[in-house]
Amino acid sequence: MAYRELKERSWRCNMELSRRNLIKYTFGNASAFDVEKRMFAIKPSGVPYDELQPTDMVVVDLDNKVVEGTLKFSSDTKTHTVLYRKFPGIAGVVHTHSPYATAWAQAMKSIPVLGTTHADHCTRPVPCTPVMSNEMIKGDYEEETGNLIVDTFEKNSFPHREIEMVLVACHGPFTWGETPEKAVYNSVILEELARIAFLTLRIDPGVPPMIKELIDKHYLRKHGESSYYGQTK
Ligand SMILES: [Zn+2]
Repeated sequence: MAYRELKERSWRCNMELSRRNLIKYTFGNASAFDVEKRMFAIKPSGVPYDELQPTDMVVVDLDNKVVEGTLKFSSDTKTHTVLYRKFPGIAGVVHTHSPYATAWAQAMKSIPVLGTTHADHCTRPVPCTPVMSNEMIKGDYEEETGNLIVDTFEKNSFPHREIEMVLVACHGPFTWGETPEKAVYNSVILEELARIAFLTLRIDPGVPPMIKELIDKHYLRKHGESSYYGQTK
């Protein structure tokens, strides 16, 4: 099996989503991208997590052609393909319907930076896309979902390596990262940010975004040249 490692990595990431309670039944999927071979391993469509095996993963190229695997690939595969094509430097994509992030997506609202937990990961709100147009819905829906995400980032000049998460309006979250494991981590973090922001706004619906000085302090403590969080390697 030529893609054993890639399939196992993708399988582990999918199982981690289930273990972290981000997934019910078959909702959601994670993929692992091989940057050199330009192909990725993704979960098959509709297979419950407790039955999923590493050998079930489907390897797909960036033209959505199956390279290895006997099962039908996840219905969201084309969204993953668009993100790998358009967002250089990423090697993992995750989609879930985790409840708090999905609630923000359904409310069609970006998640504001209200505290340092958010700023530790990202200095900007987690963006929510516009609602997909009728034309896009009638077209190649999953591919258009990818295009909607990419358009939202391009139109707003959002850096995709700094904001590694998005809410697709009326649908749910997608995350990515420089490794498949980072994409999974970002899904876990996003759900937590979404939950804390929801609770904060329940206490005070009028609370303003956190001041820039605190946002910068927390982000730069963990990221960039002068970061000092954690152990020195
Ligand atoms: Zn979905």
